[in-house]
Amino acid sequence: MSKASSLNNGSHALYNKKENCGLFGIFGDPEAVQKTYFGLHSLQHRGQESAGIASSDGESIQCYTGMGTIRRVFRSGRDTLEKLRNPIAIGHVRYSTTGSTKVVNSQPLLAEYSRGQVAVAHNGNLINAGLLRDEYEAYGSIFKSTSDTEIIVHLLAKPTHISKSDPLAHVLNHLQGAYSLLFLFSDCIEAARDPYGIRPLCIGQTDDGHYVVASETCAFDAIGVNFIREVEPGEIVRLDKSGLSSRFFVEPGSVTPAHCIFEHIYFAKQNSHIFGENVHEFRKKLGRQLAIEQPASADVVIPVPDSGTSAAIGYAEQSGIPFDMGMVRSHYIGRTFISPNQKLRELEVNLKLQIVNEVVGRKRIVVVDDSIVRGTTTRGKIKALRQAGAEEIHMRVSCPPIRFPCFYGVDFPTREELLANKRDLEQIRQFLEVDSVGYMSLQGLLSCANLPDDHYCTACWTGKYKIPANVAVNKFAMEHHQMRMFDEPE
Ligand code: SF4
Repeated sequence: MSKASSLNNGSHALYNKKENCGLFGIFGDPEAVQKTYFGLHSLQHRGQESAGIASSDGESIQCYTGMGTIRRVFRSGRDTLEKLRNPIAIGHVRYSTTGSTKVVNSQPLLAEYSRGQVAVAHNGNLINAGLLRDEYEAYGSIFKSTSDTEIIVHLLAKPTHISKSDPLAHVLNHLQGAYSLLFLFSDCIEAARDPYGIRPLCIGQTDDGHYVVASETCAFDAIGVNFIREVEPGEIVRLDKSGLSSRFFVEPGSVTPAHCIFEHIYFAKQNSHIFGENVHEFRKKLGRQLAIEQPASADVVIPVPDSGTSAAIGYAEQSGIPFDMGMVRSHYIGRTFISPNQKLRELEVNLKLQIVNEVVGRKRIVVVDDSIVRGTTTRGKIKALRQAGAEEIHMRVSCPPIRFPCFYGVDFPTREELLANKRDLEQIRQFLEVDSVGYMSLQGLLSCANLPDDHYCTACWTGKYKIPANVAVNKFAMEHHQMRMFDEPE
């Protein structure tokens, strides 16, 4: 008999804006909870708004979630982790959203249904969540959160789905959009990835033979886990006391993948290995290609740290212009939750990124960034570089101009707010107040990737969305998934 035990200290939200998140799970390890804690630390770049861990002793699941970073949520330390101490665990970190929205919908999401308990952790965005939710509410279902993830629990609990030979596979076939998912049942973990493989999900193994799953392999490095392979698109991987088993809920190879190439450009950590290659090496290739496509006459190449650093190294290598650190990033400024007006944003940017005057003063500089979204923050950095005495500033961006929203788990601002939406290159240059601006071409970007061109999603540059979405689905996505962007302080 299962006993429900939730230690949830988070409160539920008005409405959840989807985001990029980090997942971690481990089966059968006496230190599963501690390792999940450390794994989530390594994945913290994927989300700082909330964090949580759910664990099972083989019979019942306990869950603890809260707002903030993993360290903040578990600041009471040993006591909380000790209460969760069980050999099966999953964890989740969630991307931050704007303070004005006050979104609170932490995961894992713990629920009880006729088959027992389940805790769910999700990275991605279900584009048909609104339609499914309307359908369920019309039949009287009550939702306790505003997260699109909760719809998965309702689908799992539906009696006609439970009666299927593989209820989970059946449920996954109802979902549209991007999802890497971890399900913690009392005696196993099931990890699933959408048929397009939009978000990453990796499998590893400890030296003791315990299986681990995580969004990125950097979470393995932190705790000495050996990377085995990625969960395939459309695959369910089950971790239980028999070890690891795999099955597919769509015919393998029947869907052309659409890996989010933005993971490689911006989101993933440099030491991670996703979509078949190392992130740092990929970004360096981007930098080299960028130097070929968008050369500049300059004295020094500086990155916008941290995500622009690898590309800047590549740019410097290819161009022969010396690399240096003209900006340093403070890693100690967390999300402040102050009201995000422009003045305060600028102050936050100044605190987060500070200029090394000696590097940029009286120099012609190439500034390499991974992407520009709204451009307001970039403009602030340029202003600071001018104040530090930079003579010429040549902005180089290692991806093409972003012109379209993302419906698959990355919260860009509205289309109107995207810098490149209505501006040509000269207008962008004027807005940023730089001497020149140059973006990577789409073809150049794809030429740096290991997989065939059509194995990636490039919709935020091209507007060509690979997952068909009807008008109602798009409407939901437009209403509920446009908030967050990256070039604002977190
Ligand atoms: S639209 Fe852009 S950010 Fe979204 S999944 Fe596609 S490549 Fe990634």
